[in-house]
Amino acid sequence: MASEAPKSDVAQEDVCDLCGLPVEVDDYEISTTSGKRHFCCEGCFGIFKMLHEDEILPSAGSG
Ligand SMILES: [Zn+2]
Repeated sequence: MASEAPKSDVAQEDVCDLCGLPVEVDDYEISTTSGKRHFCCEGCFGIFKMLHEDEILPSAGSG
């Protein structure tokens, strides 16, 4: 957390809510009590779900 990366022409700043890497896919998104979270990969997605089980909202629709 010392040097700042050069800014690029990105429309949005989507970063993984677990590791902070840029998120380029929408495949790993989840709704929690504190808002929507998105992740860069299935690994981060799974880890977050483990760590924040209580905050995860049930997905909409019939289940
Ligand atoms: Zn990640």
